[in-house]
Amino acid sequence: MQTLATRDPMRIHLSQDEIPTSWYNIQADLTEPLPPPLDPGTKQPVNPVSLERIFAKELIRQEISSEQSITIPETIREAYIQIGRPTPLVRARRLERFLRTPAKIFYKAEYLSPTGSHKPNTALAQAYYNSQQGTRRLVTESGAGQWGSALALASSIFNLKCRVYMVRVSYDQKPGRRTMMETYGAQVLPSPSRDTKFGKSLLDQNQDHPGTLGIAISEALEDTLTHEDSRYCLGSVLNHVLLHQSIIGLEAKKQFESIDVEPDVLAGCIGGGSNFAGFAYPFMSDKLKGKSETEFVACEPKAVPSTTRGTYTYDFGDTAEMTPLLKMYTVGHKYVSPPIHSGGLRYHGKAPSLCYLIDKGLVKPIAYHQTEVFQAARTFAQTEGMIPAPETAHCIKYVIDEAIRCKESNEERVIAFNNCGHGLLDLKAYEDFQAGRLVDYEPASIQVESYVR
Ligand SMILES: *Cc1c(COP(=O)(O)O)cnc(C)c1O
Repeated sequence: MQTLATRDPMRIHLSQDEIPTSWYNIQADLTEPLPPPLDPGTKQPVNPVSLERIFAKELIRQEISSEQSITIPETIREAYIQIGRPTPLVRARRLERFLRTPAKIFYKAEYLSPTGSHKPNTALAQAYYNSQQGTRRLVTESGAGQWGSALALASSIFNLKCRVYMVRVSYDQKPGRRTMMETYGAQVLPSPSRDTKFGKSLLDQNQDHPGTLGIAISEALEDTLTHEDSRYCLGSVLNHVLLHQSIIGLEAKKQFESIDVEPDVLAGCIGGGSNFAGFAYPFMSDKLKGKSETEFVACEPKAVPSTTRGTYTYDFGDTAEMTPLLKMYTVGHKYVSPPIHSGGLRYHGKAPSLCYLIDKGLVKPIAYHQTEVFQAARTFAQTEGMIPAPETAHCIKYVIDEAIRCKESNEERVIAFNNCGHGLLDLKAYEDFQAGRLVDYEPASIQVESYVR
């Protein structure tokens, strides 16, 4: 006899053996190559070898690879299992009932990792390849702390030292994240710090400097370049990061196939674009080959509207102009992001491959204000029982709106989203929302300089 659970399952699981054995590289399926990163001085494509002092060699190889699948080393698959992969695909049935929608809503539970987000999927890979080539120490920056926590966890698993330059305002305001990183054994410095020349010069001018993500990146790069045993790691935007995150969508595809369901629309939030890409690209592969009609929706804050109001052009990846130029939708690398609670969505640009797909009309971008986003998050918490990260709540807002639209048009669409983080260390944001203290920001105008014609 069929039980409810087998006929119409609420949680779709994979066994450990079913973890994908390779990652999916979308670069193989694009009809033209992605616009390459350019050297800001010469405006010529960056020579990959010049990046070897910054990134592990294998990661550079993956960055420029056009192979469709890249084997996941057994040690990384084991580490994935250790942190709780495969994650379940969950049917949000109570939310559906609450909304009285004929739509079916599913989410991939990436928030179940030990640090509470999808970020360990790439942190583990980056730490592994670095340990393989003899790197002793990893250096990075962190804004809100999600990425720093993930790299601290991965460093502890692969016996590497880890240093995180954390934007000073977050360091002071988010002691929970800092303590988490220190518990994993990482060294966390408020940025600007006195440990780099750049940081010291800023503190000499203003000893209470609040810091920015751009400054923290510059300090992490300076630190890496002055320590031979160290390499730098980045938590989003780059091709190799999106590649590692494809584990999310590859699992989700198997899970949907196991219940014979095809999603009509896939949604995710975008900061740099890695969790969205990781979830969506394995499905996009079929769309690019004309084998599927699935739609893709990327959600961002109206306060940092890179893809909805920005320009598709070459821009710097950081504020201090130390990185190569990347072709992306950007609000400009000098854009001062308003202090919204979704720290992970305050980046001025987005991943080049995602921007390419948006430009081609294959991914639809949409933007929301933070108060409507927190309202959606509360509805989700009260129906589904989990409190989402403010970042994740941006796509939950879309999902709820779309489910309501389906009710009005009586459409039985299958809506799926990437539940990329929990909000248990963001309760201050919920407190502010509930006390009516949240402010909605929207830039009046956006100026983007063009560096390449
Ligand atoms: C870092 C982060 C993001 C933004 O980064 P992406 O690269 O766009 O995924 C979104 N949500 C959560 C929970 C994060 O930790």
